[in-house]
Amino acid sequence: MVQPHFLLITFPAQGHINPCLQLAKRLVSIGVRVTFSTSDSAIRRMKKNSTTHAQGLSFAAFSDGYENGYTSKDDINHYRAELERLGSITLSDIIASSTKEGNGFTCIVYSILIPWVAKVGKAHNIPTTLFWNQTATMFGIYYYYFKGYGDIIRNNMEDPSFSISLPGLPELSSRDLPSFFIPSNQYAFALPAFKEQLDILDEETNPKVLVNTYDKLESEVLKAIHEYNIVGIGPLIPSAFLDGKDPSDTSFGGDLFRGYPNEYMEWLNAQPKSSVIYVSFGSLSVLSKPQMEELARGLIDTGRPFLWVIRAKEGGEEEKEEDNLSCKEELEKQGKIVPWCTQVEVLSHPSVGCFVTHCGWNSTFESLCFGVPTVTFPQWTDQATNAKLVEDVWKTGVRVKFNEEGIVEGHEIKRCLEIVLGGEEKGKELRRNAKKWKDLAREAVKEGGSSNKNLHNFVDEMVKVW
Ligand code: UDP
Repeated sequence: MVQPHFLLITFPAQGHINPCLQLAKRLVSIGVRVTFSTSDSAIRRMKKNSTTHAQGLSFAAFSDGYENGYTSKDDINHYRAELERLGSITLSDIIASSTKEGNGFTCIVYSILIPWVAKVGKAHNIPTTLFWNQTATMFGIYYYYFKGYGDIIRNNMEDPSFSISLPGLPELSSRDLPSFFIPSNQYAFALPAFKEQLDILDEETNPKVLVNTYDKLESEVLKAIHEYNIVGIGPLIPSAFLDGKDPSDTSFGGDLFRGYPNEYMEWLNAQPKSSVIYVSFGSLSVLSKPQMEELARGLIDTGRPFLWVIRAKEGGEEEKEEDNLSCKEELEKQGKIVPWCTQVEVLSHPSVGCFVTHCGWNSTFESLCFGVPTVTFPQWTDQATNAKLVEDVWKTGVRVKFNEEGIVEGHEIKRCLEIVLGGEEKGKELRRNAKKWKDLAREAVKEGGSSNKNLHNFVDEMVKVW
């Protein structure tokens, strides 16, 4: 039989590349050939910083018209328009030349924020499947928003006492909903892309959506939405940390950031078990200087060791004197600050006892898979919803409270850290729950587990219609 060949396409951001690349490796391990595609600048950076050589996995770059990729200084609307315009043309060329070489695609799998990929697939008569790389809960929220609940949500988003009950979802207050729903939010532009995505699914017969979750983690919402066949295929994290089938698979392998020496691992090795606070706000969020000062104060006041990722400024911009934290010396005595790390390696280290996270879905899911309890510090998009799930549904973390100026003060950060790391019943409960979700994650991906079965079924279906 001819080997199936899948084209996997992702939005060029770290939080999208990581799970997609892991999905690619998973598909390769079950006998599928995969071509992984994202923007040319992202592919260039990935190749420079990482080494992903799986037999059966190749890379193809599409164009977004931005030589060095999007930065926060660029006009996002212009970027998105160019991404769609040039991305559609160059992706179409990739498909056409592959087909011409007798190397055509069985199907296309694409992640969120690039719904135009479905149109490209249709033009070439290739079936497309959405890979939803946020929670199933977030899928549910957008689904309800565009199917009747949009007005009530939009009109109440700025009322802190507002809350809403939606089938299969926990009771959500305005602070738990995505920031995009506030009409004046600068990122409200993302909403039409989600609407377009749902419209595309609605045109398909029996649309299937692959989600980076596992069935037991979000069973209610997975059961509640009947219009689409939503299946959990996660967690999509490197095999060495999960099922151990490929011990060499120890990082996502799609690093957009410079590969720094991992001497922080030596430092972690020297710390007592479960003592270290790991702090990271992902690959995009940038905290204000006053917020950084408060966070630094909170960490110092706990007296505990910490590993804090503070990324270099975007686009190689120089650090200035005023960027330096006032308590730099104290910080360096007590912990370690790094510009980037291999997060999965850090979270799986026995010295790590708590993760202060912005609650990007990958970071949140990684914390659950490694059984590390969290202090949640959400910034935007789906992060507030993830923080809600962590605190009230999975019960593995504590959410910080912002003051009236939108800052989380040092004493509040210390308060949350003491709960998570302390010996009181609450801390013990968080650690017990974290262990439970970690075990269930491993069960889901092993042979016969729900995610393993769902992925095999998907491949079988695609091969059948081929
Ligand atoms: N990550 C990493 N090293 C860091 C910070 C982040 O390897 O120092 C990885 C992390 O493991 C995760 C991804 O980058 O897979 C960040 O994705 P997430 O959804 O958490 O946040 P985003 O960057 O999209 O806001």
